[in-house]
Amino acid sequence: MLRNGVLVVVSGPSGVGKTTLCKNIVTRLPATVFSVSYTTRKPRPGEREGVEYFFVDDARFQDLIREEAFIEWAEVYGHKYGTPKQALLESLHKGINVLLEIDAQGAKQIMERFAGAVYVFVAPPSLDVLRKRLCRRAEDSMEDQEEIERRLHEASDEIANFKAYHYFVRNDELLQATKELESIILAERVKTDRLDPDVLVENGLVESMTRKKIAT
Ligand code: ADP
Ligand code: 5GP
Repeated sequence: MLRNGVLVVVSGPSGVGKTTLCKNIVTRLPATVFSVSYTTRKPRPGEREGVEYFFVDDARFQDLIREEAFIEWAEVYGHKYGTPKQALLESLHKGINVLLEIDAQGAKQIMERFAGAVYVFVAPPSLDVLRKRLCRRAEDSMEDQEEIERRLHEASDEIANFKAYHYFVRNDELLQATKELESIILAERVKTDRLDPDVLVENGLVESMTRKKIAT
C-alpha cells in the first residue's frame, strides 16, 4: 500500500449539512468510509443501528470510556457521543480515508492526540438558512423549538472559531460544497508526506541505495 488513509474531521454547527455532505462523499470517493459513532441519544425516524450511530444507554457508554474504546468523546446538547478507536485506526492503516463527523469539542481532542488529520469546518451561508435547515429536520424528528434555539445559539460561537481548522467549506449549494470537500480529500491524499518511501523502492521507482537519501 502506497499511503495511509486520510483522517478527515468534519465539524460545524448542527444542521449545517455535515451528514449530508459526508454521505455524498462516500458515494463519490473510493476507499472512503464514514466512522460510525456511539451515542446515548435516541434514534430519529429512519436511523438504523450501526449505520448512522450505535445507540447505547449511559451505562454502556461509561463502560466503553473505561475500556478506552474511544479516540474522543464529548457531551453534546445533553447527550454523549464517542468515536470508536479500533475500527478507525484499522481503516487508516489499510489506506482507507475515514470521515469523522464530530462536534468542535471532539475535533479539539483529535487535534491534541492525533497527528496528520485534516480539519474541515462546514459553515452555513447564514444563520437564517441554518435555522430553516434545523427546522426542516425537526419536522421529521420531533425535536422541539427549545432544542433548535439551543443549537443556533452555539452555532455563532463555533463559526467564530473557524481558524482552528485547515479548510472552510460554505454549504450553500450542496453540489458545490460536496465538490469542495471532495477536492480537499483528493489533494490531501497525494501529499508527499503521506507517501511511504519503502513502497517506492518495492515498486522499483527508487533504487535501494537512493532510499537512504530520502528524508523521513
Ligand atoms: P448536520 O449533520 O450538520 O447536523 P444534516 O446533514 O442532517 O446536518 O442536514 C440538516 C438539514 O439540512 C437536512 O434536512 C438536509 O437535507 C439539509 N441540507 C443539507 N445541506 C443542504 C444544502 N446545501 N442545501 C439545502 N439543504 C441542505
Ligand atoms: P446529532 O444528534 O444531530 O446526530 O449530532 C449532534 C452533534 O454531535 C453534531 O454536532 C455531531 O457532529 C456531533 N457528533 C456526532 N458523533 C460524534 C462523536 O462521535 N463525537 C463527538 N465529539 N461529536 C459527535
